[in-house]
Amino acid sequence: MLLKRQRQPQASKQASKPTHLQPTTPNLLDQPSIYDITTSNTHERSTFNLGLLPMADEQDIVIVGGGIIGCTTAYYLTRHPSYDPAKHRIILFEATKIAGGASGKAGGLLARWAYPSSIVPLSWRLHDELAREHSGVERWGYRRVHAGSLDAQPSAPTSADDGETGRTDGDETIAEQLRASGVPEDLTWLDPSTILSYSSLGSPSNTAQVHPYQFTTSMASLAAEKGVKIILGTVTDIQYTTSPLQSTSPSSNKKGSGTARAVSGVTYTRTDTSTPQTHPATTLILTAGPWTPTLLPSLTIPAHRAHSIVIHPSKPISAHALFTSLPTGLNPEIYPRPDSTIYACGPTDSLIPLPSTTALVEVDHKRCEDIRKQISAISPALRDGEVVTEQACYLPGGGPWIGPVGKEEGLLVAAGHTCWGIMNAPATGKLVAEMVFEGKAKSASVRSLDPRRGMW
Ligand SMILES: Cc1cc2nc3c(=O)[nH]c(=O)nc-3n(C[C@H](O)[C@H](O)[C@H](O)COP(=O)(O)OP(=O)(O)OC[C@H]3O[C@@H](n4cnc5c(N)ncnc54)[C@H](O)[C@@H]3O)c2cc1C
Repeated sequence: MLLKRQRQPQASKQASKPTHLQPTTPNLLDQPSIYDITTSNTHERSTFNLGLLPMADEQDIVIVGGGIIGCTTAYYLTRHPSYDPAKHRIILFEATKIAGGASGKAGGLLARWAYPSSIVPLSWRLHDELAREHSGVERWGYRRVHAGSLDAQPSAPTSADDGETGRTDGDETIAEQLRASGVPEDLTWLDPSTILSYSSLGSPSNTAQVHPYQFTTSMASLAAEKGVKIILGTVTDIQYTTSPLQSTSPSSNKKGSGTARAVSGVTYTRTDTSTPQTHPATTLILTAGPWTPTLLPSLTIPAHRAHSIVIHPSKPISAHALFTSLPTGLNPEIYPRPDSTIYACGPTDSLIPLPSTTALVEVDHKRCEDIRKQISAISPALRDGEVVTEQACYLPGGGPWIGPVGKEEGLLVAAGHTCWGIMNAPATGKLVAEMVFEGKAKSASVRSLDPRRGMW
């Protein structure tokens, strides 16, 4: 399975692709987004009662999982107008370290042409707002970028294994060659002789990026500043209370005995002790990415490992995200970052099932080396660069699922975000906060993301 295939916009919703890319604009934060949506519009078409009760009294809100979804959820809970730190105690449990999984090891591409279309416009706007409010350019490398699809055929390698091209043309000559073949001329870090075709997928008006680790840890810090307590520990069990059915809420369990189950707490073990403890919970939000089914087995979230590397290139690289298509079929995705590094990820594999924690993810050096060879074969600047990170993580699939699970009062899920979890995290967090404090999602429609669709 290739990440690239999953990234393609759904056919029916695909925006028409520009035929020519504009020169790179390093940062368009000072420009208004042309994709802004108005709250009133969104509200009108999307209000959907989820059967949760708006919060009035003291509450213990527990979030399980400190990836990007858990951290943006914590952030937006603390920014909701009804949040009152004197009444609402929010705890975020993270089993290993904040952003230790996919949220810290992803590419970080954001696109107005991502999916699902129900939440992408909201999330695109919120990324922009977050960057403006919290200096995202400096803090998490937010910037607008170009994105393109590159079909390439590496030249015959000069060394048997390395795909080296041995080209030494200067940037001006390369730019001329690129221009002649209709390829953006700032892609001088590519070997033009390897390019078969290039097509634009996005421009700075609808495509951006963040450094996902920096973004996620910033969200965690900003939430903590407003009162969220972060505990490093693994949640192992959920406790419920059962009472005679009184509620007419659609989220009640009306089957069988006429009783309702409501979340009452969690059992957890801190990383610095082996003694299980309990913590009360009136609202429990599961944001454990691919690990969510360990606490909610009826929810299906496929998990696939993916490797990636970070390189210090030998020369500056333009702000161009590239989805490659190479004869080997490995097709790495390449994301230059504003910190002068480039990130590249390869295809997913199913060789090793999901380990129990992010700390136990196995990194296969050969798979990282395969990524390096592929990108080296089309770019002398990457070939001559230095690999500074080799890593792997698990991509959560199936969703995104956002909302209450239905049978148990007070239990919500936000997981299974596929290859667009970095993009869709702010919308997810905001919508979950609305569900918790107002009983329903107001800023976008989440009907199609109802977790019950992914449960058996
Ligand atoms: C190679 C790759 C590249 C990607 N590139 C992009 C991209 O460019 N743009 C984009 O939008 N998306 C991208 N994604 C997708 C994105 O990374 C994911 O969708 C997103 O990170 C999922 O976030 P999450 O918070 O749901 O899960 P995770 O990041 O997996 O976080 C889950 C957290 O829960 C914790 N946890 C698990 N169980 C427990 C427990 N019982 N108790 C306490 N804590 C627990 C884990 O330790 C972990 O920290 C990419 C993914 C991959 C694999």
